[in-house]
Amino acid sequence: MGSPLQKILSRRGDKKGKGYGLKLAAVVLVAAAWTSLLFDIPVRYPRIWFPTAAGTVVYCGVLHLLSRRREQTIEVLFAIVILYAGAVHASGRPWLQLAYFPFIIGLIPLYPAQVIIPLSILVPFTEVKAFVITHENVAWQAAFFLSFIFTSSAASLFYGLQRKGRERAVAELEKIRVEARDRAKDVEMESLGSDEIISHYFASRLRADEEIRGILAAIKHAVFADGVHFFEHGGETFSLRSTTEDQGKLIITGRGIMAQVLRERKTFVSGEIDEKTTTVGYIRDRIQSLIMMPVLEGATPVGLLAIDSPRYHAFGESEQKTAELFSTQIARILERERVYTVLKQDVTALRIIKEFSAGLAASIRYDIVVQKLCDYAKQAFGGQAFFFEYTEARFEVKYFPGEIAGEQQIDFSGTIIGLAMDNKHKEYVSDVRQYGMRVFPPQFRPAVSRSVIVVPLFYEGGLLGVFGIVSDQREFLDSRQIGLVELMCNQAATSIANARMHEEIAHLATRDGLTGLFNHRIFQERLTAELKRSERYATQLSLLLVDIDYFKKVNDVYGHPAGDLVLKSVAKILKYEVRDVDIAARYGGEEFAVILPGTDNSGAKNFAERLRKAIMAEVFLADGKPLKVTASIGIATAPADAQTKEELIERTDQALYHAKRQGRNQSVNWGIGR
Ligand code: GH3
Ligand code: MG
Ligand code: MG
Repeated sequence: MGSPLQKILSRRGDKKGKGYGLKLAAVVLVAAAWTSLLFDIPVRYPRIWFPTAAGTVVYCGVLHLLSRRREQTIEVLFAIVILYAGAVHASGRPWLQLAYFPFIIGLIPLYPAQVIIPLSILVPFTEVKAFVITHENVAWQAAFFLSFIFTSSAASLFYGLQRKGRERAVAELEKIRVEARDRAKDVEMESLGSDEIISHYFASRLRADEEIRGILAAIKHAVFADGVHFFEHGGETFSLRSTTEDQGKLIITGRGIMAQVLRERKTFVSGEIDEKTTTVGYIRDRIQSLIMMPVLEGATPVGLLAIDSPRYHAFGESEQKTAELFSTQIARILERERVYTVLKQDVTALRIIKEFSAGLAASIRYDIVVQKLCDYAKQAFGGQAFFFEYTEARFEVKYFPGEIAGEQQIDFSGTIIGLAMDNKHKEYVSDVRQYGMRVFPPQFRPAVSRSVIVVPLFYEGGLLGVFGIVSDQREFLDSRQIGLVELMCNQAATSIANARMHEEIAHLATRDGLTGLFNHRIFQERLTAELKRSERYATQLSLLLVDIDYFKKVNDVYGHPAGDLVLKSVAKILKYEVRDVDIAARYGGEEFAVILPGTDNSGAKNFAERLRKAIMAEVFLADGKPLKVTASIGIATAPADAQTKEELIERTDQALYHAKRQGRNQSVNWGIGR
């Protein structure tokens, strides 16, 4: 019995057990078959030898298949080799030994090096007779078998290394998957608004790139590809997010197979691409085999994974399965990345809204509230803000990003803004071009208007104005952001209503309720201020006190309401006659005061006469009956007639007294008429 065979078999550590006898029988049978080769039995007794050798193969094969751990592999294979060697001997054609090469190469992917290498060493032993006994063609035989052993061992070792790489790639994938799962848990647990999310996001974006690159490299390794690329799909175009190859050498057209895979959402596999007749969608060196698969987030394709090779039929079903496994990983990474982006935007928007609310609380001025609303909206959502104030049944442009031709009355009917106001609800149009309705009336020329959100601002049922944001991008807001815009508008509406109320209160506090003229308090304040100013600039200031003559009679004859009407009408005349710089006030009862800054006594006299005549000319209606009144006016001028405020008022009052005394319906200058 050949000692090398025995050695190898004993080294395989077969423990003595139940089937030990059967296994030993296999070894004995193989050894016997081999020994018979030395004695030329296949040539001399082929009819006995071939069935026996074939029986040995069958016996070993059955034993191999029945054993739990598929043992006796070498025995089976060597029995086959011996059977073939017998046939070579019997045929007398030594060149048939060449068939050992394809035989062993075919076995390499199926068996580990621990089987292939011993087997290839055993094969030359089939020719021991030629070496030891007959010495036929020794040199040729030696060269043949040495090259055989070398080739099969090298091929087997190389294949083993590749297989290890593949196993490592699969292990890497598992690691990535576990990490991704852990990170997904992190996201759920983090509370919204923490700074960590943002820094986490940036780290994650970088990590996503790194991870995708890692996955592509792992795929390349696992399926023996030449290049693996991931194309992201956004809008209508593809962009190369990552590749295992030189990014610059790849040209994307996005047509052909790429477009088809995206459309059909089905994997494309081919082993015989002819680039002359087939459009892949991207161009690089040479593509003969290709796997192109959609990377899906749910049912939505977010990109394409392409695996190519210049080899013919490089990819089979198992490669496709491996690639599919990896592509779901890429989809997870992208999904995670997208979630972080949304979170980040939300956190930023919420922060701005928080600041916005805090800022609003401090401002009671209408213009500032509106300004803040527009500024913050731009910051939080991008685009350009607009605001139209609604006051006294008409719109006034407060903010508009663009030009307005003409100053006509604004009419929003037939526009998206009009629609929002009619519905008393926000209106979001993600693509104005598709909508078939203008955002603004025709005289408005906005800088951008691809998409728009319009929010009418109401407070307790009353329309305060219309706010909106226009953007040059399609779908510039998602549903969450739309909610945030509405939230901001709600807050702004409350603040605007507050500011308006504040302005109204301020107005009421300074005005006389009946006539709308400044009240006595404001008259006093303004007179003080104006006197100071005229002193500083060395100009003159005149004061008029106007008292209606016999007013008690008006009340007595026509009634108090008619008297009120007369007071209102006189106030109207006053408002009409005074210049912008003059200050008309209700001094008290049926007395009015007019401050004339920068006016000397003759200028004041002229004004007083004009006023007196206007009052005298006016026909008031009391209960439908015509009624006329006259007024007496006292005039004094500072610094000519008086130095202080009190003195000035006193002198004016004295002048008025003179006017009354001298017969009423006249104006008297203190300095002249005393
Ligand atoms: P004279 O020419 O001397 O000024 O006579 P007169 O009647 O105007 O006299 P006087 O100034 O004393 O009278 C003021 C009257 O004006 C008394 C009051 O009844 C009336 N009056 C004051 N305030 C109002 C008001 O708000 N509404 C009405 N209807 N009457 C007022
Ligand atoms: Mg009076
Ligand atoms: Mg009077």
